[in-house]
Amino acid sequence: MEFALSTEQDLMVETARRIGAQFGLDYWRDHDERKTFPREMWQAICDAGLCGVALPEEHGGSALGMVEMALAIEALCAGGAGGTLAQIFMLNPIFGGVAISKFGTEAMKRDLLPGLIGGEVGFCMALTEPDSGSNALEVSTFAKSDGNGWRLNGRKIWITGVPDAQKMLVVARTKKVEEVERRTQGMTLFMVDVEREGLTHQTIDKLGTNTLASSNVFFDDVRVDPEEVIGTVDGAWPQLLEVLNTERIVTAAGCVGAGRLALRLAVDYAAERKVFRGAPIGSYQGLQFPLAQCHAELECARLMNLKAAWLHDQGLPYGSEANTAKLIGAQALAKATERAMQTMGGMGFAKEMHAERLWRDARLFKFAPISEEMILNFIAQHDLGMPRGY
Ligand SMILES: Cc1cc2nc3c(=O)[nH]c(=O)nc-3n(C[C@H](O)[C@H](O)[C@H](O)COP(=O)(O)OP(=O)(O)OC[C@H]3O[C@@H](n4cnc5c(N)ncnc54)[C@H](O)[C@@H]3O)c2cc1C
Repeated sequence: MEFALSTEQDLMVETARRIGAQFGLDYWRDHDERKTFPREMWQAICDAGLCGVALPEEHGGSALGMVEMALAIEALCAGGAGGTLAQIFMLNPIFGGVAISKFGTEAMKRDLLPGLIGGEVGFCMALTEPDSGSNALEVSTFAKSDGNGWRLNGRKIWITGVPDAQKMLVVARTKKVEEVERRTQGMTLFMVDVEREGLTHQTIDKLGTNTLASSNVFFDDVRVDPEEVIGTVDGAWPQLLEVLNTERIVTAAGCVGAGRLALRLAVDYAAERKVFRGAPIGSYQGLQFPLAQCHAELECARLMNLKAAWLHDQGLPYGSEANTAKLIGAQALAKATERAMQTMGGMGFAKEMHAERLWRDARLFKFAPISEEMILNFIAQHDLGMPRGY
C-alpha cells in the first residue's frame, strides 16, 4: 500500500492549488451573486491540463487517472470555489469525457474530446425525470427508431449547466419496460446538440449552486442521428453506471475540498474573534471539538475516495467505495459548513464571510447526484447482502 504522492502528482496538486487561490472566495461570491458560469476559472483549469487529466493523450489529455482527478478537484475546491466547482468536472470530464472515451465511437472521440479538454465545448447530462426521480430505470423519455435514427420525446428535470453546454448526454428508453425481460434492458445513451429543433429548456429558481443553471428540459420529437449513439443500443445500463460511479468520485473529492475550505474559514475566524476576557473563541473546546470531528470525517471520506479512484484506475470494481466516500463526504461537508456558520455567530450569516454560500451549496450533495438513502440502500444490498427493501 502506497500513500505518498508521486512528484508528478505533487506538481499537479500544486498547480490546482495555485489556480484555486487565484480564483478565490471573492471571485466565487461575485459569480454566485450574478448567477454566472465561472468561465475564466474553468478556462484556466483546462489550460493547465486539469480537465483532461484522465482522458486519452492522443486527444489532448494526460492519460493519468481518477486518483489525479480527485486530487486536483480537492485542491481547486479548497481554494475558494467550494463544491460547485466539482460539478463542472462532472459535466465535462465525466458526462462528456468518461462517456465518450470509454463508450464513444472513434469519430466522436476525434471530434469532441479535444474541444472538451481545451474548454471550448461544454457538456451536460439529462437523466433525472419529474416522475421517476431516483428510480433511473423508470425513465420514460423515449427514443423511437425512424429507420435511420431516432425521434426523442420526453421531459427531464434539474439538468445542470444546460445554457452553458453545447452537448447533452441523454438517457432514454429505446424499448418500453413492458417489452423487456429485465428493466435494465432497453436503455440507450445519446450525445445530442443542446441547440436542436424540438429541444427546449427553462431554468429553475433554486437555493444555491448559483453559478450553474439547473433546468427543465423538454424533448419534442428531437431528431437523433445514428452516429449520436454512445455505447450499446438497448444495453447502455452498465455504461450509464460507469458514468454515475465516476461521478461519485468527483462529488466526494469536491466535498472534501469544500469541507477543508469551510474548516479553514471557521478556524481563521475563531483565532481572531474575542468575546469574553480577551480569549479567542477558538480556544473553547466547545467550538474546537465539532470542527475537529468534521476534519476527522473529511479525512476518512478522502481516504475512501482515493481508494475508490485507485480501484477504478486498476480496472477493479469500485462502486461500493465510491458510494461510501460520497455518502460520508457529503455528510461531513454539510456538517463542516454548518459548524463554520455556527463558529462565526451572526457573521456567518453575512455574505462577506463566504460560509453561507458554502453552506447553501453543500446541501445539494446530501441528495444529489445520488441521495444518502439510495446509497444506504446500495450498501445494505451489495455490501451487507440484505434484501431489497423497496
Ligand atoms: C441542483 C441540482 C442539480 C442536479 N443536476 C442534475 C443533472 O445535471 N442531471 C441529472 O440527471 N439530474 C440532476 N439532478 C437531479 C438529482 O440527481 C436528483 O434530485 C436526485 O437523484 C434525487 O432524485 P429526486 O430529486 O427525484 O428525489 P426522489 O427520488 O423523489 O426522492 C425523494 C426522497 O425520497 C428518498 N427515497 C426515494 N426512494 C427511496 C428508497 N427506495 N428508499 C429510501 N429512500 C428513498 C430519497 O432519498 C429522497 O430523500 C440535480 C438536482 C439538483 C437539485
